[in-house]
Amino acid sequence: MPLTVIYDDAKRAVAERAALVSPTRPGPCCGSRMERVGGIHEDRGRRFYYRRCARCGFTVRHFLPVEEGQQVERPRRRRVAFR
Ligand SMILES: [Zn+2]
Repeated sequence: MPLTVIYDDAKRAVAERAALVSPTRPGPCCGSRMERVGGIHEDRGRRFYYRRCARCGFTVRHFLPVEEGQQVERPRRRRVAFR
């Protein structure tokens, strides 16, 4: 089951079975207290895992570097040719 992160300042930061509740902004505690949570997820071809502050519960996605041959398809800019 994919992990769901809910950003909500009003709720207490709690880890539930299917969802993490995270404050919407990081606090001063978040610099050194981030811990990995759960396994590898994927969003639009990018792989990531969640890192969560052990103190306040602030959660961010930590994207893994794109490996060779695993490039994400991006919309291409239209090129204008000048002659
Ligand atoms: Zn924190």
